[in-house]
Amino acid sequence: MNNPSLSERDAKIIWHPYTQHKNMPLPVPIVRGEGALLFDEAGNSYIDAVSSWWVTIHGHAHPYIAEKIYKQALTLEQVIFSNFTHEPAVALAERLLGILPGDLTKIFYSDNGSTAVEVALKMAIQYWKNKGMPERNKILAFEHAYHGDTFGAMSVSGRGIFTEAFKDLLFEVVFIETPDDGNIEKIKSIIQSHSGQIAAFIYEPLLQAAGGMRIYEAGHMNELLDFIHSKKILCIADEVLTGFGRTGSLFASEYLLFPPDFICLSKGLTGGTMALGVTASSQHIFDAFLSDDRSKTFFHGHSFTANPIACTAALASLDLLEGKSCTGQIHSIRTHHEGFVEKELSQSANNLFLNIRIIGTILAFELNTRRHEYGNEVGAEIMQLGLSKGIYLRPLGNTVYMMPPYCISPGQLRKIYDFILSFPIILTHIGHRSEMKEVKA
Ligand code: PMP
Repeated sequence: MNNPSLSERDAKIIWHPYTQHKNMPLPVPIVRGEGALLFDEAGNSYIDAVSSWWVTIHGHAHPYIAEKIYKQALTLEQVIFSNFTHEPAVALAERLLGILPGDLTKIFYSDNGSTAVEVALKMAIQYWKNKGMPERNKILAFEHAYHGDTFGAMSVSGRGIFTEAFKDLLFEVVFIETPDDGNIEKIKSIIQSHSGQIAAFIYEPLLQAAGGMRIYEAGHMNELLDFIHSKKILCIADEVLTGFGRTGSLFASEYLLFPPDFICLSKGLTGGTMALGVTASSQHIFDAFLSDDRSKTFFHGHSFTANPIACTAALASLDLLEGKSCTGQIHSIRTHHEGFVEKELSQSANNLFLNIRIIGTILAFELNTRRHEYGNEVGAEIMQLGLSKGIYLRPLGNTVYMMPPYCISPGQLRKIYDFILSFPIILTHIGHRSEMKEVKA
């Protein structure tokens, strides 16, 4: 009998994230990565056009980060973070506080984006309780938001297919639309009607990513934040995705006039090499937990809080991020996207590409098919076709986006652009264009 392949061994025993196993093709067996490329067992390469779920900012298996991780693993791999501290955790906190926007003074470590959000939500709610105002216990959030998959993070995320099975168990949240030209007064009146009950407002600054790569404008957001500040509502910026250069500036909060009371970080924090979450908070939050009354303590912590190898990876990633070449790479991706959109994508003589948008290193558009929901099979088909051409794209329903590692080469970008330009032909071939809507403008 033949030895089973890696994919076959996997299919027998592994349950993958966000995967309907009933009709999934076998997973691609990846054996190594280098720069923007992933290589499978057979030696085929794939351009990782989504930075492996938006984490890999400097490319795969970066030798500088790998070396630092190796040395740290030989020195101190893990230590309980109550009662003890270590150089990588302190150095990383110092470094982050030096570059984060606003006036944040404390760093709380956890494991991933969802936990970074949970920590901020719990801190915000307990802040008001500690200050003798427990009635301020509601969270304000945007429709279409995505903040993670744990219960608190799900509760503050937009309701939809991801949350449907749990909807009766999620806590109540005051949802508002993202601000635009016409809705600001309506949003203000919703907030006003809950005034005095809202502990905090959580938002993905300028880009709602998993909700469909929706971009909203800084000008409108400034008006909203101004109002929210006047109501003394704490602000939590979820920069899990937008942090570390993704939107062009180091943090998306830099585009806004009002710095938040909390910033949540993960994904690109370690250059995408190790799981690590950070919740940065301002001094007045921390001070509300200082007390002789033990019940005012923040009773929260994870086994791997401030793991030394993960903190070391984050320090190494920051070295690379702050280097001159990285800033140039980010700028260059944006310029390439702009050229492609202007000269090619928006000129394409069909109605297939709608709502084309760019923010920093991210390019997104909708495909004009009738089926829009997550799980829209056009997305799955594009992913499979991409793989057969050596490109890994993972559309969100009919929203196609690119979010490459910063080290991607112009040639690799070109290959992805050419694949996108071939969609009108490919989609006709697989029968999706017959379902296209009539587009007026
Ligand atoms: N917040 C945002 C804005 C995210 O995009 C994500 C992940 N896509 C999360 C939180 C959750 O992060 P994680 O998957 O690491 O739990």
